[in-house]
Amino acid sequence: MKAIVDDPVYNETLPGNSSQDVLQQIAQLSEQMAGIAHQTNESEGFPHQEFDWLAAAGLLEVVLPKQPLSFQQQNTASLLQLLKLAGKGNLSVGRIYEGHINALYLIHLFARQTQKKNWYDTLQQSKHIFGVWNTEAQDGVSIIKQPDGSYMLKGAKTFCSGASWVTRPIVPGKLIGEDGTHLGWQMCILPMEKVHQEAIDPSFWKPMGMKSSVSYKISFEGITLTEDDLLGKPNDYHQQPHFSGGAIRFAAVQLGGAEAIFDATRHYLQTLNRTDDPYQKMRLGEMAILIETGNLWLRQAGEQADQHSEEDATINYANMTRTAIEKICIEIMQLAERCVGARGLLQPHPFSRLHADLTTYLRQPAPDAALAQVGHYVTHETNPAHALWTAR
Ligand SMILES: Cc1cc2nc3c(=O)[nH]c(=O)nc-3n(C[C@H](O)[C@H](O)[C@H](O)COP(=O)(O)OP(=O)(O)OC[C@H]3O[C@@H](n4cnc5c(N)ncnc54)[C@H](O)[C@@H]3O)c2cc1C
Repeated sequence: MKAIVDDPVYNETLPGNSSQDVLQQIAQLSEQMAGIAHQTNESEGFPHQEFDWLAAAGLLEVVLPKQPLSFQQQNTASLLQLLKLAGKGNLSVGRIYEGHINALYLIHLFARQTQKKNWYDTLQQSKHIFGVWNTEAQDGVSIIKQPDGSYMLKGAKTFCSGASWVTRPIVPGKLIGEDGTHLGWQMCILPMEKVHQEAIDPSFWKPMGMKSSVSYKISFEGITLTEDDLLGKPNDYHQQPHFSGGAIRFAAVQLGGAEAIFDATRHYLQTLNRTDDPYQKMRLGEMAILIETGNLWLRQAGEQADQHSEEDATINYANMTRTAIEKICIEIMQLAERCVGARGLLQPHPFSRLHADLTTYLRQPAPDAALAQVGHYVTHETNPAHALWTAR
């Protein structure tokens, strides 16, 4: 994606790890994570072991300046593969990790140089996990300017993935001036040490899947912040094409969930010696086509995001990608169910967990609006079909 902050100080990569090395590392970690996914899910708690592995492999820092997938490199296709493989290992891990990467992207785009240095140092020295908690109910967050120049928070967020283990979440809210005027939707980065345990409500999170994403409700009532904790200007959070364009990241994680189901289905059929049946072969063939289609979407979406395309084209290419991958995931689940039958859906087979996780994680914001926007865009374009998405 286009960087809107010119950042020459950081515009080089360290010799050593390449993006290929990173993808090999995550492929291996993905298998390790899948190996313990059952226990992690049963615990219904934060995936500590998995994040220790990600931290030890340097993957929490992988998009920082001079790192193999630094945002300056504009290697979005590889970043999407990284996210996909994290999701393949464990979708809850993929969800929290995607939030971490999203937060670092927002810092890359909108933080001042001194803030970047502070937050990057914080991450590298103390392995803080970042996140983005935007979703809220009626009691949403306000950030109220105080006469002494500080800011007081009111309200709560829902679906706070990673909960208190995400120690540096971006919490956007309504910025309110000293005179009570609404100044826009303001991001802040909140040190979670300031949030008391009683403010965290795990009872909000009784989901059918994605249990280990620990997406609790958290109240920020009464917390005070300084100017340095605010990220960007009011309404930067919704700045396009970054806001809608970011949907390709969750789509990548979702496709990881579909790949996990493909692998598990094939393993199940091989174990039962059911691979010579023509109907099973047909379904596996269809599943392989769907998975490859998803990967082609991701590759193309990565390239599209890195081109300096017209804003609406970037947004709607992302809208198409997330819509296509949602469909792919649903079809993969249906085909897998028919392949493995009721017996396969029993535990300890992984299908009930994989399906519950993917079904839950497929529910992302505004799916109808995303598809409607694509329809609106293409009906108002005059370019012929073959030139709808080429860079201009
Ligand atoms: C596992 C998981 C983790 C998450 N983690 C985070 C996180 O860390 N941070 C965060 O900010 N959020 C998080 N979320 C929330 C997520 O980003 C979405 O906001 C949320 O999943 C959308 O909820 P919903 O499907 O109930 O939305 P809804 O908006 O209720 O959508 C449901 C359906 O209604 C349609 N619809 C929407 N608006 C209208 C309308 N006005 N009239 C009619 N129909 C409408 C939609 O198109 C959709 O078909 C998480 C969600 C999940 C499932």
